[in-house]
Amino acid sequence: MESTDSATLFSAELKKQLDKKDQEIEKLKKLLEQYQESACDQNFLRHEREDFHLASVDPVSRLSKNDIERYSRQLILPEFGVKGQMKLQSTSVLIVGAGGLGCPAAVYLAAAGIGRLGVVDYDEVELSNLHRQILHTSDRVGISKSLSIVRSCQRLNSRVEYVPYHLQLSSDNAMDIISRYDIVLDATDNVATRYLLNDACVMAGKPLVSGSALRFEGQLTVYNCSGGPCYRCLFPQPPPPETVTNCAEGGVIGVVPGIIGSMQALEAIKIGSGIGTSYSQRMLLFDALDGTFRCVKLRPRSQACVVCGEQPTVTQLIDYVQFCGAAATDKEQELKVLDKSSRISAKEYHSMLTSGLDHVLLDVRPEVEMDICQLPHPNINIPYATFTKDVQRAASQILDKMEDLKHGYHSNNPQEDQAYRYQQQHKRGLNTEPSDEAWLTNPPAIVCVCRRGNDSQFAVRMLQKEIQARLTRGEADHGGDQGIKIVDIRGGLHAWARHVDDQFPVY
Ligand SMILES: [Zn+2]
Repeated sequence: MESTDSATLFSAELKKQLDKKDQEIEKLKKLLEQYQESACDQNFLRHEREDFHLASVDPVSRLSKNDIERYSRQLILPEFGVKGQMKLQSTSVLIVGAGGLGCPAAVYLAAAGIGRLGVVDYDEVELSNLHRQILHTSDRVGISKSLSIVRSCQRLNSRVEYVPYHLQLSSDNAMDIISRYDIVLDATDNVATRYLLNDACVMAGKPLVSGSALRFEGQLTVYNCSGGPCYRCLFPQPPPPETVTNCAEGGVIGVVPGIIGSMQALEAIKIGSGIGTSYSQRMLLFDALDGTFRCVKLRPRSQACVVCGEQPTVTQLIDYVQFCGAAATDKEQELKVLDKSSRISAKEYHSMLTSGLDHVLLDVRPEVEMDICQLPHPNINIPYATFTKDVQRAASQILDKMEDLKHGYHSNNPQEDQAYRYQQQHKRGLNTEPSDEAWLTNPPAIVCVCRRGNDSQFAVRMLQKEIQARLTRGEADHGGDQGIKIVDIRGGLHAWARHVDDQFPVY
């Protein structure tokens, strides 16, 4: 009996010691990993400063034992073979954009054994990137995207040479960088960079594998390759900036850029290995909702094209931000449509709420976004699209709501109850600010909000015109002496989250 007990004790003790050693090993492994990553970053960052003068990739004339094993499944393809592999390993590819398209493109190019992989991106990893930009990780939020891609690819295949560029591609640096690569991938999300990349690739004589993805749709084509057209041959003029939507505004299902980015890698591999692309003068259209792929033939190269035509007039890079009337980033652009008197800050609106001032809160976001979050005050939701279609109807709805307010309208809506509680709490002195603002003497009757404070300005402008017209015609009687004051919240819900409520969700 006694010997069994001591044996149990002894084995428990051993187990304890073993666990302890395991923990120590784990700790050491983590330390080593961190050290290796930082050594690797140092190496890359050093590289980054010098790489404008990269030597070309050494041509590969034989495969090592390790190469043969690693790439064996593609080596036995008759269309690819050892020759294709050696060509690929002698090829350099530049990916511009380390996002939803750039991540899958990079991972397949690295896996296939491209010789050198350059990745350009000026941005840092954000939480809202991770549903589609699959090489970044939760613990890398805030670090350079180009470096993050390189770290992930390095783990997958350290035999590739990686060059991260933490910078914004511009007319000043594009030729210098692009001219050192064999193939360029456009994995960006804005029109200005598309034109910049196109012109630089035409001037440097590089094929441009272009991809795009928005909502449930994706597109792929290869410009300036095998005698096919360039982007300007097809689109000589940029679209009006207000008609362009990017993923931050329009949304995107993560798999769609995953598919298009993978196909960009595929076309780059086909070009690099000597097979050649299938998408010169052809465009692939992918519709994820229908589950269909279609391929359309594009117009041929235009002899009149200003950059690749017979007599080009654009022979060096221009100012693409000016040319497109839009910034070369996908960051939010703050428009200035209304003058100061028609705008209040998020903090001022907060003071309005805590003072309990009667007003109509008009939220002009699409219905689907109302489910994500709402301001703590009863609102009327009329999506901005409705304003552009039928501003009269929108104005009538809002004026009706004002009537309701006048006659002591009460709702059964739980969200409105919550808003009431919020008002009461804040009336008791929580977070209340001194309210000596000028707007308090003539408080707004209608406050308009959207996600970022752009649509709200257009909506306010339309509403002001429509209501003024009614007052002039004597069809509305809400005005009083000073008219109906309509304002928007500067910076929209993003500003509310930034300046008033740091628990408010940002999307
Ligand atoms: Zn052209």
